[in-house]
Amino acid sequence: MPRPETTLTEFIIGEQRRFPGATGGFTALVNDIRLACKRIATLVGKGALAGLQGRAGARNVQGEEQEKLDVVANDIFLRTNEWGGTVAAMVSEEMDAPYLVPAHYPRGRYLLAFDPLDGSSNIDVNVSVGSIFSVLRAPEGVAEPSLQDFLQPGARQVCAGYAIYGPTTMLVLTFGNGTHGFTLDREIGEFIYTHPNLRVPQDTSEFAINTSNARFWEPAVKRYVEECMAGRSGVRDKDFNMRWIASLVAEAHRILMRGGVFLYPRDEREQGRQGRLRLLYEANPIGMVIEQAGGRASTGYGPVLDVVPEGLHQRSGFVFGARHEVERIEQYHRDYNQKPYDAPLFGARGLFRAAGGG
Ligand code: ZN
Repeated sequence: MPRPETTLTEFIIGEQRRFPGATGGFTALVNDIRLACKRIATLVGKGALAGLQGRAGARNVQGEEQEKLDVVANDIFLRTNEWGGTVAAMVSEEMDAPYLVPAHYPRGRYLLAFDPLDGSSNIDVNVSVGSIFSVLRAPEGVAEPSLQDFLQPGARQVCAGYAIYGPTTMLVLTFGNGTHGFTLDREIGEFIYTHPNLRVPQDTSEFAINTSNARFWEPAVKRYVEECMAGRSGVRDKDFNMRWIASLVAEAHRILMRGGVFLYPRDEREQGRQGRLRLLYEANPIGMVIEQAGGRASTGYGPVLDVVPEGLHQRSGFVFGARHEVERIEQYHRDYNQKPYDAPLFGARGLFRAAGGG
């Protein structure tokens, strides 16, 4: 008899059996993350009926206004993951310092970084939002992990993924052996293994970028987007489509399902700012998921997973998706950011006339 549908729990246990010496702790950890995501999915799904719409009246450490659901989702992640004995400490987009698992619970070997509700400004308009998570190993022999212990390059993640709360709730994750998707069956309350071995096609004719920032872009990005927009009449010799959802999880999910390239590049708005998205709980986990699906994840200049973080809330330029497009964008950064690029589209006759004539 063929096995019935595989659940997420069965999938994790199967993965664990392939590695001799692996303990059950990892299964418990992923189960807790899964439960946190189901709890958040239920709340998000209630919409206005949950009475949690709108602003919390506070700002997070990044100076962004917190939505009420940001605060509640952060709390759900902490409460669901602190007691199981697998996690030692957690950091999140919504907290300024690491959260050490309280002494009355056993502390485990893992560090958890998460963005509890990515895209939360989209909540009120009923557009997909998500949760992003990244699991690192605590350094050997460290009982009370500090901020420093979280500053590991993304290449050291042992597990990363996201949940997307859309028309269906899905969990997409990787343990470093491909990227896999699970769909929540609401009737039985289980994630079912529906999307084995997701692959991002190497080429695409769909790109996603917030063009309202065009006047701040670096020359490489101006050139890349201009060439896409020139379509069949330009050097790319094909027409492109543009997408922009303003929700990182939704953008990543679209690219995993049907390809594309996403750019939130470093720009010239603020001297020294490295981009907008957060390295530890946005770019690194999404980067690992994309690379494990055969795509490429970059700062624009090189692999995002190689960056050694200097701070918990460090930001990064982030370009990911179709491998050949991301490599092209990296090439443009090498070629064009050395000298001013006089892009006609952004120049005096341009469609996007840049402030200051850039
Ligand atoms: Zn986010």
